[in-house]
Amino acid sequence: MSAERFRDVVNLYLLTECDMGCAFCYASKNLGKMASERAISLITSLARLGADRLNITGGEVMMYSEALRVVQHAHDCGIQVCLFTSGSLYTLDKIKSFSPLLSWLALSLDGDSSVNVKVGRSPRHFDSVLRAIQQTREVSSSVRIRVATVVTRLNVHHLDDLARILADARYRPDSWRLKQMVPTRRAQVNSSELSLGAEEFQKAALAVKSKYGDLLHIDMKPAAEKIADTMCIHPDGDATVTVMDDGEFKIHSLGNVFADLCAVLEKWRKFRDLYNATAYREQWDLIVGTESRR
Ligand code: SF4
Repeated sequence: MSAERFRDVVNLYLLTECDMGCAFCYASKNLGKMASERAISLITSLARLGADRLNITGGEVMMYSEALRVVQHAHDCGIQVCLFTSGSLYTLDKIKSFSPLLSWLALSLDGDSSVNVKVGRSPRHFDSVLRAIQQTREVSSSVRIRVATVVTRLNVHHLDDLARILADARYRPDSWRLKQMVPTRRAQVNSSELSLGAEEFQKAALAVKSKYGDLLHIDMKPAAEKIADTMCIHPDGDATVTVMDDGEFKIHSLGNVFADLCAVLEKWRKFRDLYNATAYREQWDLIVGTESRR
């Protein structure tokens, strides 16, 4: 393996179980849970190879009983952690435990309470996310909060309603990420009902940005920016990358990290889109002053 340090951001999927049923779900299914000892040893190896930023996710990561131990270990290895949770189970006790270990908290919200349910979120999800934002702010001033919204036909005409809610000074995340849906996995199956073209996505995202850009840091993510921007490691250790092949988004296997991590990283480097992977890494560096929140 080359001596190049590994600096790209990995998405570590600890489990596939989830309490939501999002129509656009991009996560792998029915792969169970990664044993916590394996997750810990993998994180140690990644840190030794140079990794300093890691997304820890699921499924729903709050359904992984040893999530705190895994996040604590990444933190102890000097890795900055972004914890991805839908927010539905991110209760105050969890906020208090996880916040000192996090660089970013990424929550999902796809519309106001009714649109959010239409997308496949549970009825309690909407209020849980807003509460989690407020409580995280109360517990820690150092955790940066991102709200991610996957833009599909189901919510494209309702982004203004969500923007108005997020712009309220009680919430106002450090970053609001508008993501054009990437048609892979369940999203591919539901693509005819959900997919938006790049132009339509851009027009909708720019419309909310022009109206709320002074209050919200709005980060637009066209689907093309997802091509080979990050490597996903699934609970069984299989690693994948999203590529564009014959004009279609496809998921390509990189091998299994528990069998041969170095071979996986070598393969990743061949597929990596340097521009997208660098942008993916750099988005962590967003520094937001208190001005924009209050
Ligand atoms: S998109 Fe996320 S929250 Fe929704 S079903 Fe998939 S893993 Fe769960």
